Amino acid sequence: MSSACRSAVFVRPALLLAALLLAAPAAAEKTRRPSWGGFRSPTAQAPEALGSYTRGCLLGGVALPEAGPGFETIRRHRRRYFGHPALARFVTGYGRTLDALGLGPVLVGDLSQPRGGPMTSGHRSHQMGLDVDFWFTRPAGSRRSDAAFASLVDERRERIDPEVYRAHHAEMLRRAALDPAVARIFVGWVIKRELCRTVKGDRGWLRKIRPWWGHTRHFHVRLACPEGSPECLDQAAIPEGDGCGTESWFSKAEVARRKREARMGRPKKGPRPKKPPRPPLPARCRALVEG
Ligand SMILES: [Zn+2]
Repeated sequence: MSSACRSAVFVRPALLLAALLLAAPAAAEKTRRPSWGGFRSPTAQAPEALGSYTRGCLLGGVALPEAGPGFETIRRHRRRYFGHPALARFVTGYGRTLDALGLGPVLVGDLSQPRGGPMTSGHRSHQMGLDVDFWFTRPAGSRRSDAAFASLVDERRERIDPEVYRAHHAEMLRRAALDPAVARIFVGWVIKRELCRTVKGDRGWLRKIRPWWGHTRHFHVRLACPEGSPECLDQAAIPEGDGCGTESWFSKAEVARRKREARMGRPKKGPRPKKPPRPPLPARCRALVEG
């Protein structure tokens, strides 16, 4: 036996003990600690949205039915069809509106996990049971991948795709925006620009239509904090006006600035810039996973 091996024999009990001390709590934690994506059901509490849209959770959530008049949920296996009762009410009411207009059934994407909270994939928000995605179109075949859904935007030319975009898409957005429970609706900036150019008559609802990256195949509806959620943080109020002026997100100068910013934020080579640490979840949310 070499001296190295002998010394290994001597240190082994100490190492073993250290390993056990380190491993035991971790292993116990693994079995005991639930994760946000692992919850199978909402909490049995009074409904409450807690925290912010990007850092929060949901108490007393409800499951949106698989389908109803004017709407149909997809990808149920992901268990992201839970929301605050106000959100379930909104989706079912919106479905009925679309149904009456002959525009349904709309395909419904993700709401929140049974108890909200951060998701491992797909969304930064959707954490309080107040956000829901709707697809603009209905693909003929599989709905498993996002690419199966047609984009309303010709991404390369940065303009609306006249082969896909139809007047009823604007009507779908308008009807959602008219609901007083709705705070914001996110769409691709090219879509907002198109609405700004084409909507005649009442343009008040355009204010809630917020231009963003992506969101060319689906739109994202966000409800304001509902009653009975004192720890729910609304976003800052939207500035006055329809958001279509020269100060808007998609003015030429703004688009150029945002692209520059996006490029600078994601260098192709070298170390990525460190993201600032995320604020902790509200204590009452943490209590759900920390046990
Ligand atoms: Zn969304």
